[in-house]
Amino acid sequence: MSISKIVVGSILLAGILRAQPPARHAVVEHVVSRVSSAQLRQSVEKLVGFGTRHTLSDTGNATRGIGAARRWIKSEFEQSAQRSGGRMSVAYHETIVPPSGRVPAPANIINVVATLKGISAPERIIVIGAHYDSRASDPLDALSDAPGANDDGSGTALVLELARVMADQMFDATMVFIAFAGEEQGLLGATAWADQARDRGWNVEAMLNNDIVGNSMGGDGVKDDRSVRLFSEAFSPLDTGSVFRMRNSLGLESDGSSRSLARWIDDVADKYVNGFDVRLIYRRDRFLRGGDHAPFHARGIPAVRFSVARENYDWQHQNVRVENGKEYGDLVQFMDFAYLANVARVNAAALATLALAPAAPRNAGVVVSRLEYETTLRWNANTEPDLAGYYVRIRETTSPVWQEEVFTRDTVLTIPKLKDDYLFGVQAVDRGGARSLITIPLPAR
Ligand SMILES: [Zn+2]
Repeated sequence: MSISKIVVGSILLAGILRAQPPARHAVVEHVVSRVSSAQLRQSVEKLVGFGTRHTLSDTGNATRGIGAARRWIKSEFEQSAQRSGGRMSVAYHETIVPPSGRVPAPANIINVVATLKGISAPERIIVIGAHYDSRASDPLDALSDAPGANDDGSGTALVLELARVMADQMFDATMVFIAFAGEEQGLLGATAWADQARDRGWNVEAMLNNDIVGNSMGGDGVKDDRSVRLFSEAFSPLDTGSVFRMRNSLGLESDGSSRSLARWIDDVADKYVNGFDVRLIYRRDRFLRGGDHAPFHARGIPAVRFSVARENYDWQHQNVRVENGKEYGDLVQFMDFAYLANVARVNAAALATLALAPAAPRNAGVVVSRLEYETTLRWNANTEPDLAGYYVRIRETTSPVWQEEVFTRDTVLTIPKLKDDYLFGVQAVDRGGARSLITIPLPAR
């Protein structure tokens, strides 16, 4: 090849490289780097200090019970809000619930909510939540100590920490940070908020639930401080009838919106958090158990649950006591704050990316005009001013993760692969490198 051809070739190559946005977004890297394990420890210790945070515990006492706890959570959110330039607002979300199995009389369930309004697309909403209520052995016991360091002081501290590191940064979409009440009494606070989102037609693009995310030593003596489980359900219960039949016939059973969100989070975590793995679990939650993401998923909102790799059942839902020399109870001393910080970093990376990224492409389709040996995909153009283009993602039908990608600035792409043998997805990316959720193309004629 002549020198001039090499020079022209290099310029072309440089142009192509410039066209692709960076692999990591600077703002995401910044917020991830701000997560502090010392701050997380302080928050968990403070939450444990309220003695019990049982949903039916005393609300008037200044230092003990769920009332004192939520006033403190609100004041922590308000401190973050002070650095937001007026964009973060903090409020209680209250619902009177009727008596049920774990609620003997009508009760006021109070979530604490901090909303960081998005700048260019405030109608797009990303939710991160954890429950701040706790329980002892008996779910109706509102008097005994229920420290709830890990369940779910860990998740609550994480949500406070993320509000702190995000508050003074600029995002396209709106972030909602929620400390839920009534989880242990039947997912009451989360259900009330998810109902409200549905009834008001809010565009909630994702919900990340963190529940028991702060210990690394399992009850079986096995330690894992290198991974966190991420639970996701397959289909939305709203995907019924012809929608279900088409998804099933196309082999999209692992590409429902919550499962797809989980896969996307795994992808993001690999970019921003070294040496710490997201382990996808294809299940709503732990076997026959539940959490605050479930009412969101049930209403068609993509929702997933983070939980530790190794649980210890002596440390959750137990009265604090020593029996035959063995310690029971959900205490700070059993926690691993370096581990909790890594889970918080994964959440920070996911939340910040979701709120910076363009919206997921709409109307993505696999063009089916005739039988052919390549696959043509098309989708509607995104309208964000900072849009850089799109990634088409490719994986084999049996692969849990995306394996290949192609960057394009077009809204049509032909890939030399047989559509019979692969799954495809399309995501938009901004010039900073924040990638949207992935849209799964459906047949288009
Ligand atoms: Zn819990």
